[in-house]
Amino acid sequence: MSSSTVKLHDKEFAVYLQEEEIRQAILSLAFRINQEYAGKTPLFLAVLNGSFMFAGDLLKEITVPCEISFIKLASYQNTQSTGNVKELVGLNEDVTNRHVIILEDIVDTGHTVSVLLKKLQTLATTSVEIACMLLKPACLQHPLEIKYAALSIPNDFVVGYGLDYNGLGRNLRHIYKLKS
Ligand code: 5GP
Ligand code: MG
Ligand code: MG
Repeated sequence: MSSSTVKLHDKEFAVYLQEEEIRQAILSLAFRINQEYAGKTPLFLAVLNGSFMFAGDLLKEITVPCEISFIKLASYQNTQSTGNVKELVGLNEDVTNRHVIILEDIVDTGHTVSVLLKKLQTLATTSVEIACMLLKPACLQHPLEIKYAALSIPNDFVVGYGLDYNGLGRNLRHIYKLKS
């Protein structure tokens, strides 16, 4: 059992996307990736911390041979994207000639993922695509092609399922949005 509202620090959040809805979205995404990467061995590159739950659940549904590696980036303070992306743990995988799929928890302004894309574009990858659990299309400030978005949401601040509010909420099984 988990309740329909949670309090994290000073803020209240109400359930927004239930576990089952998240699961169905991940199954559809995995189905597409399995079809489109048939015969290939993609390297998933998950961006920590937020994508750990998404990466775990998605990867269990991937049936093509694949590898996974992690990098750690941070750009958010409180409930605002700062645009100042810090690399906390770098890429130590050889991505030469690899089909890379970036795994992000959420794409908001797109700053974080474009910094990572620019970096990968200087390396000799065969292809790079972006997969995210959540996309906020109204917030995008970069001309990015997000090929694999499990779910699109409005411009609300959300927590749960890997996403935090100042460190708390990553363990929640549903996705919650900030109460106004
Ligand atoms: P962007 O660089 O696209 O603006 O933001 C990317 C990162 O900011 C995400 O990977 C995530 O860590 C954080 N972020 C963006 N929107 C939200 C949100 O609604 N809730 C939470 N908890 N984090 C967010
Ligand atoms: Mg993230
Ligand atoms: Mg965060």
